[in-house]
Amino acid sequence: MRRTKIVATLGPATSAMEALRQLLEAGVDVVRLNAAHADMATHATNVRRVRELSQVLGRSIGTLVDLPGPKIRSGVLAGAEVELENGQEFLLCGGDDGQGDARHVATTLTDLAQWVRPGDDVYLADGAIVLRVIESVGNDVRSEVVRGGTLRSRKGMHLPRAEGHVEPFTERDALALEMAIAAKVDFLGLSFVRRAEDVERVRAMLPRRGFRPALVPKIETALAIDNLAGIVKAADAVMVARGDLGIQMPARSVPLLQKEIIRFCNQAGKPVITATQMLESMTRSPLPTRAEVNDVANAVLDGTDALMLSEETAVGLYPCATVRMMGEVAESAETWPRQRVTPEAGGADGDRVAWAVAHAAVQAAEELGVAAILCPTRSGQTAHRVAAFRPKVPIAGISTSSQVLGDLSLVWGVRPLVVPQNADPSEQLRLAIVAARGAGLVREGDLLAFVFGSAGPRAGSTDSVRIVRV
Ligand code: PEP
Repeated sequence: MRRTKIVATLGPATSAMEALRQLLEAGVDVVRLNAAHADMATHATNVRRVRELSQVLGRSIGTLVDLPGPKIRSGVLAGAEVELENGQEFLLCGGDDGQGDARHVATTLTDLAQWVRPGDDVYLADGAIVLRVIESVGNDVRSEVVRGGTLRSRKGMHLPRAEGHVEPFTERDALALEMAIAAKVDFLGLSFVRRAEDVERVRAMLPRRGFRPALVPKIETALAIDNLAGIVKAADAVMVARGDLGIQMPARSVPLLQKEIIRFCNQAGKPVITATQMLESMTRSPLPTRAEVNDVANAVLDGTDALMLSEETAVGLYPCATVRMMGEVAESAETWPRQRVTPEAGGADGDRVAWAVAHAAVQAAEELGVAAILCPTRSGQTAHRVAAFRPKVPIAGISTSSQVLGDLSLVWGVRPLVVPQNADPSEQLRLAIVAARGAGLVREGDLLAFVFGSAGPRAGSTDSVRIVRV
């Protein structure tokens, strides 16, 4: 049973109902909707479809809406893509939302010309294409292509002088946030976060009561690396967004930063996603490169909770094969006896009792060789804490709430299980065992560990461990 979770991005290759069903069946745990692309009605429809299919498949599948943030992007192209050749001239148009072609493209930066000087390098297609600025003409910028390549619509664009000055929360972010709250998505990806306040600003915009999506800042700017501790503290989970990170920082430092960010999140007990170009060649090929297989395995060995696919599943030719490949590689890497990173005492929330009880539960579960650790949980936090100790035995996060189950879909090793609420504790325990049996986690005669927050006066939100024989 694979413990590492898979996040897959939807796109034209996978949005139709049947293609989506096959993608989810291939083993996706969380579906990512990239709000930089498509309209909000399409994303809302896709969230609904994921929920319907999740019911059909009998599995909790999370949804993540990735807010574009202040990421500067090139605009829409008339065709699917254009090829830019070395040495050709290319015009970047500020304040224009018309369709581009092989000679010009719009950008999301209206005052583009203000942020470039002749001789500056501008990066298109998330850094794959390099343009050198010749001159500004009004709002537009004439440039020469110094590294050509394929440009598609609305790809990431970098202008080193502009990064620190762009608005942290854009009009498109506001639209995507409204859609995500209305559709009750489980996670919000926050692009181009620079400091903890960027996370707190979005948190303040969430409804005070009821449904609140978990916030997942993407670590992809040099400033975010400087402010990592505060961002992780303010976050519910974190994404290592290697695409943009590898442009803002030298690409050679990304493998080390990935290890650093993952270790930091593991210590804080916060879920972490490793993203971008993990199996990129499978966008067009049925098999990955050896290097990609190594990359996926190494992210697992680094301690990531989840692995993410972007173009591979959004526009790729082999989306299901890619998910299956990622799952197989992750499962194989999980057999390696890596040293586990132990969360700091008190974890991310400072609840020393809860973290110590979760730790004790994992030690007892492993010593006794229990079949599974069952975590009946109101907030999901008990399952988060148990998973943070990376136990060898399966974990089930048990809840009546679809929000809690959705949140647990991203957490390493946790199988979200829905169990109806029952006021009688022994009946509640019996129902949990029935669900765990139904999920194939336990059989007659097995030992089980229950970890939970008891009713009545207590010292921490997770305060009890009970070992039962089925
Ligand atoms: C990234 O830059 O790695 C990333 C995940 O962000 P996006 O897909 O929005 O470019």
